[in-house]
Order: sequence, then structure tokens, then C-alpha cells
Amino acid sequence: MVAETGAEQNNKKTNDVLSSTQTVIHKALEKLGYPEEVYELLKEPLRMLTVKIPVKMDDGKVKVFTGYRAQHNDAVGPTKGGIRFHPAVTEREVKALSIWMSLKCGIVDLPYGGGKGGIICDPRNMSFGELERLSRGYVRAISQIVGPTKDIPAPDVFTNSQIMAWMMDEYSRMDEFNSPGFITGKPLVLGGSHGRESATAKGVTICIREAAKKRGIEIEGASVVVQGFGNAGSFLAKFMHDAGAKVVGISDAYGALYDPNGLDIDYLLDRRDSFGTVTNLFNNTLTNKELLELECDILVPAAIENQITAENAYDIKAKIVVEAANGPTTLEATQILTERGILLVPDVLASSGGVTVSYFEWVQNNQGYYWSEEEVEEKLEKILVKAFDTIYTTSQNRRVDMRLAAYMVGVRKMAEASRFRGWI
Ligand code: GLU
Repeated sequence: MVAETGAEQNNKKTNDVLSSTQTVIHKALEKLGYPEEVYELLKEPLRMLTVKIPVKMDDGKVKVFTGYRAQHNDAVGPTKGGIRFHPAVTEREVKALSIWMSLKCGIVDLPYGGGKGGIICDPRNMSFGELERLSRGYVRAISQIVGPTKDIPAPDVFTNSQIMAWMMDEYSRMDEFNSPGFITGKPLVLGGSHGRESATAKGVTICIREAAKKRGIEIEGASVVVQGFGNAGSFLAKFMHDAGAKVVGISDAYGALYDPNGLDIDYLLDRRDSFGTVTNLFNNTLTNKELLELECDILVPAAIENQITAENAYDIKAKIVVEAANGPTTLEATQILTERGILLVPDVLASSGGVTVSYFEWVQNNQGYYWSEEEVEEKLEKILVKAFDTIYTTSQNRRVDMRLAAYMVGVRKMAEASRFRGWI
């Protein structure tokens, strides 16, 4: 094990997502018997671009935004991963997110490495026009390192198909070719794929079903709590509700709703705004902390990082925790939940449905031939069931928790590809 610097130790204390993912990558490579230089190569992205994006705001003033694009490892193929618009974006977070994308692509066996982008901004306080100018400015700023065979962006927190459309248009104008394969998560009319919008939630639903089988829980009648009502959380609540589960709790950034008899999900979906806010319409709300500790069978953190920590891991009452968000559970909490016999399905597996259908979208763009929703769903189902099974079996056979098992499965392909290329 490499000696840790003071800064590294400090980062760990504050639940720094980059150092915790590095810790697990290191363990996974050790378990797989790779030498230390493989870790040295994979512990950070190969490339990290920081850009300044000047945007004319509606009041006539110019505001300069900071954005990032990280490309973790492109040994397997072009890098792939979303762009998030959020005030809490940091360089370290984007780096960690790009590593998670590499792991996801390895887990579902896509011909990609991981990438990720982020802009420090709060789209909730920006107009449509400001968002468009920011999106286009970002694409111009990162254009040299991205492209359909280099690095393919997609939606993430607070970005959507409209933003992808502006970005695709900007790239196509610069490229002087229509380039639908530059970005995924586009609207259907611009070469998007059927099933992409709900793909992350579909993948989570498949993982929930497989995990429930392992714990002998029937989905019909099972009680489910979903933290976050954005793209993943809202579709997921709907899918679980339609499958006959009782969604007893949901939340957004401002609070949480609880009904032991099951919430009216269709009504809540109808009332949510485009950022997934809905609890502001109600009086008797809980806090997000209270929501996580509710009595339930299945808990799905589908919001942001570091929600289940050493502080609340002993208070989690769910039998299964399925991570739809990236990085919602700290490493200490992972250990506590595992020791308590709670089945934890890690983010890099549970949320890999999104990038899987993004890959389908890119394949369809490259072929110029488009698939039906059934075809997409059938292919996604096969891939995710296999991935779940491989990781669950690895965790049983190697006696490691599900997160470490997922990292072992996810890291292998890029380590092998880097070796065959002669990089290590
Ligand atoms: N942002 C999503 C993720 O974190 C999807 C990435 C993609 O579709 O490329 O998995």
C-alpha cells in the first residue's frame, strides 16, 4: 500500500469521493494480483481539462463559469460519461465520477473508458437562454478533446435532453457535419434512443429485483424509500409503484414525504418541477436524514454523494440498499451495512443502465438505424442481469463486499487493455 499524505488522510475524514474510490481501486487491483504501477496509472484520470466559460447573462453582465472534463482511461475505447451542472461541482468530484464511469463501462462490458464533465453553476437560478449559452460555451471550450470517437458526453445531475441537443448542435456546427454520435441522451427527433431517459431507473429496477430474490423479498407489497426525485429517482418510484411495491417515502433537495400506506406517485410526478422539486407543495415534510432511517424493505439513495455515512449507517432499517446515485454511501458506511447483513448494491453496478442505453444510442447513431423500445429493454435486461450475477458471485466466492466485487469486475478490462497496449 502506498503511504498516504496528510492531505489524503484529511480528504478521507471529510468523505472525499476521490480518495475513497482510490482506496477501493487499490484493493481491487491487489485482490486481482496487479502490480502497483497499474494502480499508479488508474488512480487519476489520464487527462483533466479545466475551462473558463464567459456567458452573457440576461441582465447584460458577463459571468465567467468554471467547467471541467476528465478522461479517466481510454485504453478500452473512447471515454464516456455525463456532464453535471451543480453549484457543488469540484475538480476532485469530477475526477472520481470519471473513474466511476470507467468502472461502470467495465461492469456492463462496453467498449468505452470513463469520462465526466461538470460546470459549477446553479441551473435552478438560470434562464433558458443563459443555460443555452453556457452549454454552447462549454462545448466550444472542451471541443478539442471530445468527439464521437474520443469522448462522448451525456446527461447527469441537472442536465437533460434539451441541454444535450444544444451541445450536439454546437459541436455539429464546429465540425461542419451533423454529429449525433458526439453526445447521448438526446431528444428522440435528434437521434436519441428509445428508453434512454428512463434507462438508469430501469437498470436500478433490475438490480432491485435481483437483490430482492437473493433476500427472499417479493417486490409486490415490498416497502420502498427513494431519496431524490430527479431523473433516476422519479422514474424509479414510478416503476416500483407500477410493479406493486409500496413507495412509502420520497424526497428532494428540500425535504421528504412519507406515507406508510404508500404515496400517490402519479400525483407527485405530475406536480414535480423539471429539477425534481415537489416537497415544497406540502406541509408535513420530513428531513432527508429522517427519510433514510425509515422502516422499509428497500432503500434507494438516488440523489447526491455521502448520504449514508458512519453517523447514520447503524440507523438504516432497510434490508437492501440499492445506490441509484453516484457515491451516496461512504466506505465506512459500506462496511457497517455489510456487517449488519444489509445487501448493498453499489452505484457502479446499480446506476449502469444509463450508460448502457447511451451506448445503444451511440451504436444506433453510428449505424443510422434505430431500434424499438422493446429491443432496447431486452438488451438492457440481459446485460444488467449478467452484471449483477457476476458481481454477486464474485462477492460470495472472494468473500468481499459488493462494492469491492464490483470494482474487481469493473477494473479488470481497462487494466488488461492498458497492458495489451503496452502502457504498463
Ligand atoms: N451520467 C450518467 C452516469 O453517471 C450516464 C452517463 C452516460 O450515459 O454516458 O452513469
